[in-house]
Amino acid sequence: MSGEFSDALVLRAVDYRDADRIVTLLTESHGKVAVLARSARRSKKRFGGSLEPYALIEAEVRLGRGEVGSIAKARVKRSFPAILSDLTRMSVAAVALELVREALPERQPEPEVFALSMEFLAHLAEMTGPPGAQEQLLLAFEVRCLGLLGFAPNLDTCARCGRRAEDGQAALFDPAAGSVICRSCGGGPIKLSGETRRAMARAISPEWSVAGLQPLADANRGQLRRAISGLVEDTLGRPLRASGSLAQILEITG
Ligand SMILES: [Zn+2]
Repeated sequence: MSGEFSDALVLRAVDYRDADRIVTLLTESHGKVAVLARSARRSKKRFGGSLEPYALIEAEVRLGRGEVGSIAKARVKRSFPAILSDLTRMSVAAVALELVREALPERQPEPEVFALSMEFLAHLAEMTGPPGAQEQLLLAFEVRCLGLLGFAPNLDTCARCGRRAEDGQAALFDPAAGSVICRSCGGGPIKLSGETRRAMARAISPEWSVAGLQPLADANRGQLRRAISGLVEDTLGRPLRASGSLAQILEITG
């Protein structure tokens, strides 16, 4: 029985038993799947270096009834050496892939998340500028990814009373409510400046593209970071592990 070929991003690969690996893939056609790569650590021929994170691969996968399918062979279609060779970029990519891995349901096609992830990796590999710019790309990716999965924050109206926050003005944001909360309703713990609020709204709008990313001042990026990590933590029920390492690296390099 032969499997089906699919483009996929390797989200994680862990060793299993003596010679196998279990690989979590974001496939274009089936969404997130876990597959067993039998003898992957012995047979270099079938898999080459294709089962490592941060690469687009073409994989022959079989999804049976069990939780874990299998992968018969794979080849790298596109790799991103500029990400693998740079600690900051790799840490930024690690946060993005962890979010995808944790937030996506199993075996549910998410072609838009797949396309966004590819666009994100390609842009991260090519972009120039300080580490802060890379972090900003990540923050936009995170909030957009949540939006595609149905967890977009509400930046326009108070979640309690429905009052409209004025366009372009600062607002108080509550990650637990996933919304801005007006002062009369008690406000939220994170103050978003008008500029930060606009940046967040742009990231979840249908017209967003990585090319249109506009740099934010450090203070605004800090607000965006707090709001989005709060939102991610509230959605997943825990913070992303990789974001802790990224924070340390940005402290040194940023
Ligand atoms: Zn209110």
